[in-house]
Amino acid sequence: MTQIESARAGAATKEMEAVAKAEARPVEYVIEMIASGKAVIPNSTTRKSGHVGIGKGLRTKVNASIGTSSDLIDVKAEVAKAIAAEDAGADTLMELSVGGDLDAIRKEVLSAVSLPVGSVPLYQAFKEAIERYHDPNKLTEELLFDVIERQCADGISFMAVHCGLTRLTVERLRKQSYRYGGLVSRGGSYMVGWMLANNRENPLYERFDKVVEIFKRYDCVLSLGNGLRAGAVHDSLDRAQVQELVINCELANIGQEMGAQMMCEGPGHLPLDDIEANVRLQKRMSGDAPFYVLGPLATDVAAGCDHISAAIGAAEAARHGADLICYVTPAEHLALPNRDDVIEGVRAARIAAHAGDIVKLGRGERDMAMSKARRDLDWKGQQRHGLFGEKAAAIRASRAPAEPGTCTMCGSFCALDNVNEFFRENLKAGGKA
Ligand code: SF4
Repeated sequence: MTQIESARAGAATKEMEAVAKAEARPVEYVIEMIASGKAVIPNSTTRKSGHVGIGKGLRTKVNASIGTSSDLIDVKAEVAKAIAAEDAGADTLMELSVGGDLDAIRKEVLSAVSLPVGSVPLYQAFKEAIERYHDPNKLTEELLFDVIERQCADGISFMAVHCGLTRLTVERLRKQSYRYGGLVSRGGSYMVGWMLANNRENPLYERFDKVVEIFKRYDCVLSLGNGLRAGAVHDSLDRAQVQELVINCELANIGQEMGAQMMCEGPGHLPLDDIEANVRLQKRMSGDAPFYVLGPLATDVAAGCDHISAAIGAAEAARHGADLICYVTPAEHLALPNRDDVIEGVRAARIAAHAGDIVKLGRGERDMAMSKARRDLDWKGQQRHGLFGEKAAAIRASRAPAEPGTCTMCGSFCALDNVNEFFRENLKAGGKA
């Protein structure tokens, strides 16, 4: 049985119990969310991994993506990036290689980390079509479904599949005169090319029941890819993107009914005042299926610092209900990320997720504990409660203060040190000590 089928039968799986413990939630709550399709647990019948809950009432999760390109194929470097992402606190990893021996790279990455690992099978399907037939548009349905099954069998726990990208959505692109930002989804652009070159409907849509059956066999989460996501703030919420979202929300419900765990994917690039609308649309139309957003980047002009642009958008998306945030690195739009880019990307996305959770789940103990430690000049406490304690301690140690209680920002003019003592009694009386 899949997680959703077990939940509907009222039975807690060990994965649901692990999620309940990690989220400090009753297991009955997790069962209810999984059964109703409002949460998912990326899983695999062929590989053991950590258990992460994604969905309503659960902490917003962060995904880091790694993988070779056609220009840079260094498997050791990709494995190092995967390990760095896990060490930096990513909740899930996507292995998105397009260069080299993709089956071998996937297996190496899967064995190097304990995170649930996701993929985009269209990359490998089109790459193999090019290798076999020297033309991506000669991709056959058999090869496409074979690649999906192969990746599931290897232990992939969630997969972005572009089922909602149909001729109807492509027609919207034509009628709206294309886009300022073009198409930015690799898998999406290849599938659009395939449909136009072959004058055929997307087989992932036409044979959606076959896709779902494969995912059920491995209890893998089917994440409905956002092939027409906006890649420019001026394209945000255009008709093509919304058309695909409508279809994806419909498919999410069909897949859930069939007994598969389903997520929807979102943009992309969105100005801040469109983010709430996009999250609400997805939640309303899918009946609260988990929403996996790629960023979204809140401005197009931050190249070199796009992890910050994405974190701003991701915080807004998370506060309105997005459940999984795909990180963006400083190398976005410029080059294949290196290990340092991966670490910075995970850090930025974790801040965004936590900032969103302060609104979505309530002001928690951690921020209060950090504030008190900061007020009390308790540097060890700050290191313990901060998201990046080691980095904070290293910065402080690199510029040590003359007065050990303060820091070199203000030194002997430390505002906290100057007045704390006058408020000790008030703190005790007000319960804020
Ligand atoms: S010296 Fe300034 S920045 Fe440092 S702890 Fe005191 S008030 Fe804060």
